[in-house]
Amino acid sequence: MPLDQNAIPCDGCIQCCRNDQVILHPDAGDDLSFYRWEPIASALYPGRAVPALRRDPATGDCVYLTEAGCSIHDRRPAVCRRFHCARTALALEQLSGRTRKILRRRGDVYDDALLARGKDRLQRARDLGLEHVLDTAQQVAAFERIAALPVPKKR
Ligand code: SF4
Ligand code: SF4
Repeated sequence: MPLDQNAIPCDGCIQCCRNDQVILHPDAGDDLSFYRWEPIASALYPGRAVPALRRDPATGDCVYLTEAGCSIHDRRPAVCRRFHCARTALALEQLSGRTRKILRRRGDVYDDALLARGKDRLQRARDLGLEHVLDTAQQVAAFERIAALPVPKKR
């Protein structure tokens, strides 16, 4: 089987499960009746509410995160299966400086802690000769789409 992003080790990190919006995608097999979710606003889907996993209001962590890790690992949503912070970091690198600046100014597109981890993991992928397993096409396109949208007013 060809290598994919899962070949890049997380080394025990659980940053993904903290402070991140996990949007649910029924079209990708997520069964809404299984999850505890709530409608949220997302820069990725302007003008409409989308379903996302609930987060602990005190910590911001995903409600399925436990000390032992993900409590629904076998049924984790599509986003949890395909996300990798190294890919986000690489996609941002591939954007023009202007686009990166717009996304940064918006402040609602990526999480700084996640990006810091992504840069670290991207370096790890490069050290392991695994950068080529990161397919950034969709993410670059999504970032460019967001950068072309009007900047939301600060709340
Ligand atoms: S933030 Fe990166 S290293 Fe950490 S769990 Fe997510 S994908 Fe793995
Ligand atoms: S469902 Fe599991 S893998 Fe996905 S964010 Fe929650 S704890 Fe993490």
